Amino acid sequence: MISPSALKVLYRLDGAGFRACLVGGGVRDLLLGREPKDFDVATDASPDQVRELFRNCRLIGRRFRLAHVRFGPEIIEVATFRAAHDDDDGDHAEMSDEGRILRDNVYGNIEDDVWRRDFTVNGLYYDIHDFSVIDYVGGVEDLEKGVLRIIGDPDQRYREDPVRMLRAIRFAVKLGFNLDPSCARPLPQLASLLDAISPARLFDESLKLVHGGYALQTFEALRHHHLFEHLFPLTEIALSHEHDGFPATLIGRALDNTDQRIADGKSVTPAFLLAALLWDAFEERRRQLEADGMQPMDALGLAADQVIAKQVARLAVPRRFTQVTRDIWAMQPRLVDLSPKRARRAFENPRFRAAYDFLKLRAEAGDAEADCAHWWTDFQDASDAEREEMLNGLDERAAPGAPKRRRRRKRRA
Ligand code: ATP
Ligand code: MG
Repeated sequence: MISPSALKVLYRLDGAGFRACLVGGGVRDLLLGREPKDFDVATDASPDQVRELFRNCRLIGRRFRLAHVRFGPEIIEVATFRAAHDDDDGDHAEMSDEGRILRDNVYGNIEDDVWRRDFTVNGLYYDIHDFSVIDYVGGVEDLEKGVLRIIGDPDQRYREDPVRMLRAIRFAVKLGFNLDPSCARPLPQLASLLDAISPARLFDESLKLVHGGYALQTFEALRHHHLFEHLFPLTEIALSHEHDGFPATLIGRALDNTDQRIADGKSVTPAFLLAALLWDAFEERRRQLEADGMQPMDALGLAADQVIAKQVARLAVPRRFTQVTRDIWAMQPRLVDLSPKRARRAFENPRFRAAYDFLKLRAEAGDAEADCAHWWTDFQDASDAEREEMLNGLDERAAPGAPKRRRRRKRRA
């Protein structure tokens, strides 16, 4: 089950006289009988020596320098064994005042390397030289017991790299493991250390949290351990004064939807989840601006700008995604307040599908009129002739949420 590319890297390093081990998730997942997502290699060759062995190689990372060896779409990550930082040596790893590791590029051997890894089950090495699994940290036992345990003192290891708190949740949920109580206990207290992590890294990590196939469970665990509020502060505020199950129902459904799509092998976009996570904050701001006398369209645009700006300060969501989130929001009124002309235009909009999916989600969560969502579902299923008929059936001056002529008549009566 080890990919041919990973084997190629391992054997070429071994052939050149270097130590070459598979490490991390690859070994962990193979021992669990799961298919690894990717393969990480650890070696005593320096990044420059790795580059000399592989033409298809790029060195990346400053905080943590490593080599990427590319085979078509597959990338094998090759990391040089790291040693613990030694304070009386000029060459030690750089630390922040809070004990966070800023740079970690001091090389060592495998016995140094293992102690810097995060969890015991991620600290197993498969040595290609003699096909043995090397376990310095009791990782095999924890794999068998289904326990996720940090290597060393949890408090110190979280302080060194607060992202390990997010990784703890991600692996515990994905593997169905119990987070060892000593590793769960410090989380609420240390959660605010996440605020010092760069928004770019937090975005990358958040993508893994929501696109790993267990978004709903991960979300619940993150909230339980008080980590979530440091990733999505506006969402946490909305959740804390939720009414009638909003926005919890909408968010839960969006996350569940994401998991479902991944299970079905369909594509997912962070823009859609972002639209759901921030919907309540956006709506509240929009209503506030309207109540202050702003024109509806202006209020919508400004509310979207403000809510997204706040979120992006925490997670650096690239513009190509936030733009889609804005479009999904901007189209919501246009899918509800229907006239033949508006409906035709909405349907031709390139974002129609995403906006319709979002409307459907809102309707299912009881946040939008189910009638409108059904009308659009029927419309998409209909033939051209039937569509014309449906469009002609719309009242030019239909009230929001009342796409059918019959309903308006009833109201008038
Ligand atoms: P995945 O299945 O998500 O790829 P993984 O365990 O392989 O899981 P990676 O992010 O690919 O995770 O990292 C590879 C290995 O590097 C980990 O298993 C772990 O040993 C080590 N590692 C990664 N990130 C950290 C970290 N922040 N602190 C300590 N060790 C880490
Ligand atoms: Mg990996």
